[in-house]
Amino acid sequence: MKYIDEYRNPDLVRSLSAEIERKLTRPVRIMEVCGTHTMAIFRHGLRRILPDKLQLVSGPGCPVCVTPPGLIDAFCRVAGCKDVIITTFGDMIRVPGSSGSLADTRAAGADIRIVYSPADAIEIARDNPAKLVVFIAIGFETTIPLIAASILQAYREDIKNFCIFPANKIMPPALETLMQDTRLTIDGLLCPGHVSIITGSDAFSFLSEDYGLCCAVAGFEPADILLAILALLEQINEGSPRVDNCYARAVTSSGNIKARELIEEVFIPVDSRWRGLGTIAGSGLVPKQRYADFDVTRRLGIEVPELDEPPGCLCGEILKGRKMPNECPLFGKICTPSAPIGPCMVSNEGTCAAWYRFGMESI
Ligand code: SF4
Repeated sequence: MKYIDEYRNPDLVRSLSAEIERKLTRPVRIMEVCGTHTMAIFRHGLRRILPDKLQLVSGPGCPVCVTPPGLIDAFCRVAGCKDVIITTFGDMIRVPGSSGSLADTRAAGADIRIVYSPADAIEIARDNPAKLVVFIAIGFETTIPLIAASILQAYREDIKNFCIFPANKIMPPALETLMQDTRLTIDGLLCPGHVSIITGSDAFSFLSEDYGLCCAVAGFEPADILLAILALLEQINEGSPRVDNCYARAVTSSGNIKARELIEEVFIPVDSRWRGLGTIAGSGLVPKQRYADFDVTRRLGIEVPELDEPPGCLCGEILKGRKMPNECPLFGKICTPSAPIGPCMVSNEGTCAAWYRFGMESI
């Protein structure tokens, strides 16, 4: 197949779903780890056409959702500092911390701007030399090379009023932590397609080799996802866990080496706190000492508090695949996209937002 339309062909989708039904010999639980997969599964109505015996659960693959509440408070604190402009991706602005969101801080007078890339933040820094422009650096391996490039650009061009709030996370250590959770009951994993473009499919081999988990790297069109589910069912039926690359038009086994070199040039791994998963060794990144001036936490001495989830919110459990949104007593009553309690209801890639937006009939 060459064109997007072919991956959305209804006849192909129907025949793949029939093939999945034939191959499904017992109840099977598959986790999609990427928030973009979660949304694609809902948007294309795949849950409605898949057999009841196949359960899809979401994992910790939405960067906004895994950002812990203490970091939201720290973002707001920096935003409240004199002569600071905060730049952020749109979803993050509405995630509530313990005493409000960045949107609330903006309403109270802080200069907070939505940008589409860290390059926009560099432009804002150039235009506002008397202000410190801070980019909220969230996202996984897909976004991190862009952030590394922006730091290198600022370093080369001696732009001293640009820095990041380092909150990026890398995916393999989080998946390893999930695998060590004895309460996790999944038979297979749809590996994240975008992250795999950078890491390569080999980055997930440890899941099948060390934990016996069946894995398939999937793209984001309906046929991509169904083909990856079929690959998982074949592995499960054969009892032969491995990593199948079902997104070969974008993902190679070794990934994007240049992008990873860019990351290694700028960042060093550190322990990082994830919503729901706790602190995971080596799962975060901060600028190396050479680039320490581009880290606002070191520049302004910002500490990140450890805070609990909002009362009643089950985002942490949802991110571990233990609960579904309709098991949260707040879902759709107190917590809605216009009045979110947790990040899973805010983010475009959040599981609760997907359930709410596409309705229970699509489950
Ligand atoms: S419905 Fe709202 S409160 Fe409940 S888990 Fe989802 S985001 Fe959290």
